[in-house]
Amino acid sequence: MYETHDDLPLLPANRAALAPEYPWPQGQRAAMFLSFDVDAETAWTGKDPSRYEELVTMSYGGYEARIGVRMLLAMLESLSLRATFFITGWSVEAHPVMAESILRAGHEIGHHGFHHLMPQPGDPRLVDEVDRALETLKRRLGVVPKGYRAPSGESCEELRVLLKERGLVYSSSWRDDVRPYRHLLADGRPGLIELPVTMVYDDWLFGLSHRYSPRPMMPKEHVLSIWKDELDEVRDWGGMVTTVLHPQCSGRPMRLRLLRHFLRYAQGHGDVWITTGEAIAAHYAACEAADTGASA
Ligand SMILES: [Zn+2]
Repeated sequence: MYETHDDLPLLPANRAALAPEYPWPQGQRAAMFLSFDVDAETAWTGKDPSRYEELVTMSYGGYEARIGVRMLLAMLESLSLRATFFITGWSVEAHPVMAESILRAGHEIGHHGFHHLMPQPGDPRLVDEVDRALETLKRRLGVVPKGYRAPSGESCEELRVLLKERGLVYSSSWRDDVRPYRHLLADGRPGLIELPVTMVYDDWLFGLSHRYSPRPMMPKEHVLSIWKDELDEVRDWGGMVTTVLHPQCSGRPMRLRLLRHFLRYAQGHGDVWITTGEAIAAHYAACEAADTGASA
């Protein structure tokens, strides 16, 4: 559509109104959307299905079902925390026991595509990727998800419209705020509520995730320093942070220890609302309704 630079509109790509500064509930000063992306093997097959035959590569993802999710669930229970798990439809089909264990532990299940295909404008697979995952979550788990996180963190207008049509309530993919805001669709209609993310809390950046795209393994102290600074500053701003944690990374022993340490630190503030996307989106919607009602 935009083939040359002269085609580009002289407008921001995101035309949503600025995020309203609604207070957090019960006098909390800031919020943490505690979320995990359960990609399992689709982290690797999403871009290239032929990788399914690379069995050691697959084992990075398989770690989630064998060890990672189970240990994370136990850790969350020990801290009395509820989280959101965005899980691909393929992972639910291939690892039903793992998916059921997340649900049984009382956590929120979110939509994360079916094959973890990175959403691209004009891709004819967009609709099937959304609908097939919805069907799987319903049939396998009895779940109708409220939240959606874009696989590989990309989105487009067709997808924003589709998610609204399918009844999703919130998205958690954009990287342009520290507070929830309401999307504005290109046709002027209100879209989903956005719970923005930041690369700072994407654990993929801090741990070795794949031998073919190696990253330095950062020690606990380095990552904690980054994570604490971000949280403390956002807390001063009265905003929210969103974690993007993968059980094939943060479910590894030293990473899990690091995460436990960080979550205890966040809990120690006593005024950071650590919760699910569903809860934050519901709070936003209630504030928005009250706000609109008052000004009408
Ligand atoms: Zn993912």
